Amino acid sequence: MKILLTGAKGLVGSTISADIKISGRNQVDLTNWENTYSFFKETRPEAVIHAAARVGGLGANMNDLAGFYRDNILINTNVLEAARKTGVKRVVSFLSTCIFPAKVEYPITEDQIHLGEPHSSNFGYAYAKRMLEVHSRAIATQYGLNYTCVIPTNIYGPHDNFNLETSHVLPALIHKCYLAKRDKTDLVVWGSGNPLREFIFSEDVGKLTNLICKDYTEREPLILSTSEEISIREAVETIADVMGFEGAIIFDDSKPDGQVRKPTSNAKLKSFVSDYEFTSFYDGIKKTVDWFIQNYGVCRK
Ligand code: GDP
Repeated sequence: MKILLTGAKGLVGSTISADIKISGRNQVDLTNWENTYSFFKETRPEAVIHAAARVGGLGANMNDLAGFYRDNILINTNVLEAARKTGVKRVVSFLSTCIFPAKVEYPITEDQIHLGEPHSSNFGYAYAKRMLEVHSRAIATQYGLNYTCVIPTNIYGPHDNFNLETSHVLPALIHKCYLAKRDKTDLVVWGSGNPLREFIFSEDVGKLTNLICKDYTEREPLILSTSEEISIREAVETIADVMGFEGAIIFDDSKPDGQVRKPTSNAKLKSFVSDYEFTSFYDGIKKTVDWFIQNYGVCRK
């Protein structure tokens, strides 16, 4: 099966196997219909894994709600429509757990995506992603094609954004720990260390997505999660251990904790791949830290 991957150079995209890759806007501007459609007509993929999106942290989202909505709606509509018109039978697109309703029932399950308003800070992005699920389901229903979505929890791994202010917690803490060790300072962590998160290693997301693209035939999206909650405290201790940091770890209570927890159910994923062995948190952190140290000069930070 000839697979086209969009978003090929990102955190997730870099772990997915594909025959044709779109790595950025300079290559194909997915917000532009003509550009997108001609690329599909020239390359004729049989399947598409759609990981490209306009993404950003909390600040970026809050400052440009309309831009995040517009760009993602355009990208997703163009990709799905170009795929359908050129006869692509299989599309797997990426959603994210941050698009679920602000008031969701725990554990988070696939059937709750549309059951309430998303968080007000990123509703532009969240609704655009929810429409990607709607559009995929509509095409699947009307044309009998196999278009579906995956929903990973907090992904970490090589090629992430390691910026101290704008990145997610693990790359931020890896970067901070590196500097604290180098400069012999304390390692300062935001909040109490008590919040729980479900982290998934990017290579696991890549392998699972390739398996889903090959064999998953249902319409309902699949949550990609280990269903193992890890506290911020355990996470930072693992990072310090892997990096050999022996200084003090300080929890700065004046910084926000955010949500206490957001557990998900991986029951549906387990019913599809019952025997999948996830990378342990320690091994995933080790691979990410090794990559960060080797690429310190060139990585996004
Ligand atoms: P969330 O999963 O969407 O809440 O976002 P994050 O990945 O940004 O943060 C998760 C948790 O990590 C929150 O409880 C933060 O307070 C905590 N945290 C601790 N240190 C840091 C840090 O240096 N950067 C970030 N982004 N979060 C941190």
